[in-house]
This record gives sequence, C-alpha cells and structure tokens, in this order.
Amino acid sequence: MAASIVHTVDRFDPRRVVAAKRDGLALDDERLREFVLRYARGEISDALAASFLMAVYLNGLSEAETAAMTRAMVDSGSTVALNGIGRPKVDKHSTGGVSDGVTLVFAPLAASMGLAVAKLSGRGLGHTGGTLDKLEAIPGLRTDLSIEEIEHQVQAVGCAISAQTIDLVPADGALYALRDATATVGSLPLIASSVMSKKLAVGSDLMLLDVKAGSGAFMRTAGQAEALALACVDLARRWGRPACVLVTDMSQPLGTAIGNALEIAETVRVLRGDEHGSLRELALRFVVEAAVPLLGLTPQEARRRAERALDHGEAAGRFAAMVEAQGGDRRVVDDPTATLPHAPVRLEIAAPSDGWLAAADAQAIGRAAVDLGAGRVRKGDRIDPAVGIELEAKIGDRLARGRPIGAVHARSPEEARHAADAVLAALTLDDSPAAAPPLVLASLHA
Ligand code: URA
Repeated sequence: MAASIVHTVDRFDPRRVVAAKRDGLALDDERLREFVLRYARGEISDALAASFLMAVYLNGLSEAETAAMTRAMVDSGSTVALNGIGRPKVDKHSTGGVSDGVTLVFAPLAASMGLAVAKLSGRGLGHTGGTLDKLEAIPGLRTDLSIEEIEHQVQAVGCAISAQTIDLVPADGALYALRDATATVGSLPLIASSVMSKKLAVGSDLMLLDVKAGSGAFMRTAGQAEALALACVDLARRWGRPACVLVTDMSQPLGTAIGNALEIAETVRVLRGDEHGSLRELALRFVVEAAVPLLGLTPQEARRRAERALDHGEAAGRFAAMVEAQGGDRRVVDDPTATLPHAPVRLEIAAPSDGWLAAADAQAIGRAAVDLGAGRVRKGDRIDPAVGIELEAKIGDRLARGRPIGAVHARSPEEARHAADAVLAALTLDDSPAAAPPLVLASLHA
C-alpha cells in the first residue's frame, strides 16, 4: 500500500501565543483572537492566560494588536443596540478613582436635559469605588436589570444604571478578574481594550471616557493617562464611533466622601445644587461635552442649562425617579440622612499642624476606606455600605492645627482611629502655598 502523506493541520497551540509575546514578537490577529475567545469559553487555563497577561504587561501590544484584542473581546458575547430609545444616547465610563461619583451625577443630569443614559456599571475593586456598590447603599435598589428593563426605564425616566448581567463582553469579565488576581491591571493596552470593548458592545451616539491620572488612578502620570486616552480614541476611530476622552485629575479624591452611603449623600447634595466643588464641576464638564454635539447647544448654553437643572431640582428629580424605577427608596433625595445606613462610630479628623495641603495620596485614602469595609479585598467579599471617610480638605487649602478637616465613619473606635491615622499619613502639609491641580488635564475627540 502506498504510503500516504498526512499534512499536519496548523493546530492552535496557546503556548505559542504566550511564547511569542514573551519574546516580544508581534501576534497576528487570528491567534490573538483565538486565544481571547478560547479563554472566555474556559478552554485555556488561568495559568496560561496569566502568563499571557504578564507578557503583555511587560512587552505591551501594538495598536493593531490592541484593536484585534478589543474586537475579540466584543465578539466574545452579545451586543446591545438600544435602538428603541428615542433620544440621543450617551455612554460614559471612568477608568476608576477614589470618590469618583461623576456617573451618579452625570446620568440624571444628562437625562433631565433630554439625553438618554443606559449605563452598565461595575463594582469597586482594589482601592477604587464602584458605582453599583454605591447605588446599592440605597435601601431596596436593584442593579440587576434585564436589557428590556433598561430600555423601558430609559424611555420613561431617561437614565438607568445597571450591572452587566447580560452576556456582554464575557472575555473582559474573565480577564479583568484574572488581571486583578495577578497584578496585571495597570497595563495600557489591557485597560484600553477592557474599557473600549464594553463601550463598543453597547449602541450609543457618543462615548464619554474619563481617564484618571494621579495617585488614586491606574495611570499615575498625566503622560501615561494621555497615552491611554490616545489608545481609546484610536479604537473609537477604528470602529467609526464618536468619542470624547477627558484626562482628569486623580491626585486626590475627587469629591469629599469615600464610602458607599456617604458618596450617595454627596451625590444628592450635588444634584440638589447644595454642594459646589470638583464633583459638580467634572459632571458639568462631561454633560457639556455631550450636550453640545447631541443637543446642538453652544458650550455656554449647555453649561447654563445644566447648572439650572442642578440648582432648580430637575436633576435631583430624575435621580429620585431612577431610584424609584429600580426599586429603591426615593426619599433618599429629600432626606438622605434618614434613608441611608449609618455607622455607629463617627470620629472627627483634625489638621495635625498649620500649613497648606500639598498632597493627599488618593490611593492610601481609598485603601483606608477599604480597610473599614467600604470595599473588597477579594472579588465577592461583602461590603459595608455605612462606613467610610469624609475629607473636606483639598490640595491648596490652608489648614489650621486642630481644626476639623473630615471624619471617619466606622464600626468600632479602634477601626475609626486606624483609618484616621491612615488619612493623616496620606496628607502632606507645606509651609508655603501649593497650587490646586487643574481638574481636566487634556481632552481628545474621535
Ligand atoms: N476599568 C475597566 O473597565 N477596565 C480596566 O481595565 C480598568 C478600569
């Protein structure tokens, strides 16, 4: 019998993908795609995927590789068009920070001006807070909305904030959890593909991205954050989707509250026009970026209308309607103190000496809140909605020794003291005035 020649099929071997990235070689689209899709389907081990992530962390991905990875992540699950919503749709995402309640203000504010916001949010991981954890501090509120419920609510109220319960970008869910467990979160192409895959999977007329820079962000310097912003804009252009990316300051907590119920109370103060400051300013800035192209307003008109909506109760009314539609207690808007959970111990933090506040390490302050129980150490940990930190002092402020600059809300006096010490250790005071950092460091458009 004549010997037959068996042509070996080019079988996919995921180890070769890892080895190529380990050796700094470029990956072709097909292999990268295969690797991501197979990992999402559970066909590649966590050990191999972790090696891949570390190789990417160390050697990076080119623009083409980042695009291929993003496309594979989008294609790993379903996409949502949200075609049934009759108003201009805007989506917003932050790369994560401390006291970053912009989404909670932005969504009802934009809705009160005629925009539609269907926002799929995440939970806090590491030292950063999560929008869902904050919302769930409101008694009764549900975040597990179906896509039909989201569409219906956005039509009725203008905004919905839900967890990603549908089968959207499962590859990101799996890879993000593995990155968190393997010290590979802070990689530019991995963050860009993670953030953008979630935005590209959902239909919107405009994507707004808040790329944070500073001590409380994954990108520590403005240069790194700008490079991440450029990578996101590049992806939006490749998909032909309009996007606006603001690089914003995270060298100190954005608002004055760190912790879930405390941040909801601050959201309500901002939405009712009772609190001015960085949180209000940044939410206004994002709403103007959306209202100019989507509602055809000038920046001045957009800002005036947004300020009116905050100062005259329309934005707060939308928030109350959104909370009620999601099963929560809408009285949170009229009386947050009576509605939200409280921690049993409140310990005032006093300025340790006279001087100007020169630095406030946002990551250390975020960690102090996590240690109190406001965040998770491991995925799946239970969080305590009532605990947290209030910190009024901002970089550039003149502090007077012994005068209150904030407070800790804790379960026990020991935990409160520990957190207060951690906050004080995170602050740097100087003898000469320090300049307040600008809120927006750069803006890019696709
Ligand atoms: N937010 C995301 O959605 N993904 C990241 O990788 C980092 C922040």
